[in-house]
Order: sequence, then structure tokens, then C-alpha cells
Amino acid sequence: MRVFEGASIAWEQADPAHFTGRARVKRADADDPAGPAKVYRVEFEAEARTNWHAHSGPQVLLVVEGRCRVQKWGEPGREVGAGDIVYIPGNERHWHGAAPGSPMTHIALTLAAITRWLEPVSDEEYAAAGSLAGGGDPALSDEEVDAVLRPIDERGAAR
Ligand code: MN
Repeated sequence: MRVFEGASIAWEQADPAHFTGRARVKRADADDPAGPAKVYRVEFEAEARTNWHAHSGPQVLLVVEGRCRVQKWGEPGREVGAGDIVYIPGNERHWHGAAPGSPMTHIALTLAAITRWLEPVSDEEYAAAGSLAGGGDPALSDEEVDAVLRPIDERGAAR
């Protein structure tokens, strides 16, 4: 067991290479034999959002404040609010961020997974979330899955 005292964790600016707009993060990362365990408290300014990305394992988002806009590749985006929980299966392309007009905070739990960052969410995609039409393949290609999973295999092999 390991306790992270939230008040003692320093805020970090979210990496602008992977976010549009400003967000700050408190990280509680731990090694575990099953894979990395990552718990992030992320505060997004209004309209700030992640790039498109995928995690090699499941992610759970717990919205604690504000309105959260989320989208799975190829499906319309939607908004959820404080108290809502979003489950994102492994290797599913998606993004998450604050709705227009107010900041949003979520807790992100990503267990035994690593993140593959993709392209930014365009202003058009962001604005259209809720009315996005048309298809797309929500799954990563086999090559992309291999690229995501390989570092975990290498971690495992190194132990
Ligand atoms: Mn995510």
C-alpha cells in the first residue's frame, strides 16, 4: 500500500504537445507487477482538451467538477457532468476535455496501460461533438496495437 497525500502533490502543466488549451495535472503514478498504475487529477480550462489518443488498457474517468466533453472515434461526442463516470476500453481512440464556458476536473484512472498520443482534436471536431456524422474505425490497427503494447512487453521482459 502506498498513500499519496493530494495536498502534497505538485501541480504540473499538461504537456502542450498532447493538449489543446491549458490543463494542469496532479499525478499519482505507481509501479505494479501487473503494469503501471496511473491516477491523474486533471483540471481543464474551458474548451481545453486532450489530443486524440488511446490507452493500451482500460481507462476510467470520474468527473468531479464542471462539464466534460468526450468522444469515441467515429461516434458523436457528448457531454457528461460531475458525478458521471466514463469507461473507455483499451485501444479505443478517444479524447476528453472541458465543455465551453467553464473549467472541468476529472480523475483519470489508467491501470496496466500506456498511452499512445495521436493528432489534436480540431476546433471543428470539438465544435461538432454532439453532431459528428460518418464512420471511422474506432479500433487501432494491429500495427498500432503492437506499438502500444510493445513497451509493456519490454517492461515485463526486463523484470
Ligand atoms: Mn484517455
